[in-house]
Amino acid sequence: MATRLPGAVTRIRGLVKDFDERRVLHGIDLDIQRGEFVALLGRSGSGKSTLLRALAGLDGATADEFTVSGDVAVAFQEPRLVPWKRVLANLTLGLRHDDPKAAARAALAEVGLSERAEAWPLTLSGGEAQRASLARALVREPDLLLLDEPFSALDALTRITIHKLVLELWARHRPGVLLVTHDVDEALLLADRALVLADGRIARDIRIDLPRPRRREHPDFVALRGELLAELGVVPDDESSEDLVPLKDSVLLKGIA
Ligand code: ADP
Ligand code: MG
Repeated sequence: MATRLPGAVTRIRGLVKDFDERRVLHGIDLDIQRGEFVALLGRSGSGKSTLLRALAGLDGATADEFTVSGDVAVAFQEPRLVPWKRVLANLTLGLRHDDPKAAARAALAEVGLSERAEAWPLTLSGGEAQRASLARALVREPDLLLLDEPFSALDALTRITIHKLVLELWARHRPGVLLVTHDVDEALLLADRALVLADGRIARDIRIDLPRPRRREHPDFVALRGELLAELGVVPDDESSEDLVPLKDSVLLKGIA
């Protein structure tokens, strides 16, 4: 693992967010160090996207302390490319840079999309569009990169490729990363730390000190997976799912008889 650069890129204390009368975030404390890769886990509706949007300054939220130093870039679950602009123009859109086109071309090369620079977004595959979205975030050279479930719509093979790519890009640029995911394995494959959001609070903050590249079969990986799944309220019990097979068979047999 590359050496961690000193300094916090994010320091949040007592972040609160209400929607109408309902409190979704109940006082979040969160530090992210420069170059640190943090995964944010939580059940659907637990407030992960709300927290990410607050960090991006996209939604109003109140906090006792709110410091996000440097530039922030976001990539969402849907690539959100502007369909009437070519891929390169999507990257240069709103980009402040001495030579935006050269910077955008370099970012496309980094994600292996040079040959699609002049393509229309709607002609890209899901994986290509997601890589373009990553390039658009990276070309901003963010100090904090916010990723909201950016891989969940991709097929399993594409996801493996893009995980590798994200780790390479992270190692090269060393932004602080907050990756929202509901996939425990994804968190354990990528991150230095996993946070679990529950009831509007950070319920767990677990350091992931596994050697890289990570292996799902590693006993510490398996142990951490069990711990995080339990925290998320999922009982990691293979036997119960096996129980369903004979049950299903008997239901089927009953149906035939
Ligand atoms: P997650 O990303 O963890 O699935 P969200 O942050 O999207 O969860 O949502 C957290 C809660 O806040 C949910 O109950 C959701 O319905 C609610 N919520 C999110 N956005 C809005 C909004 N714009 N207006 C009202 N309620 C919202
Ligand atoms: Mg969400």
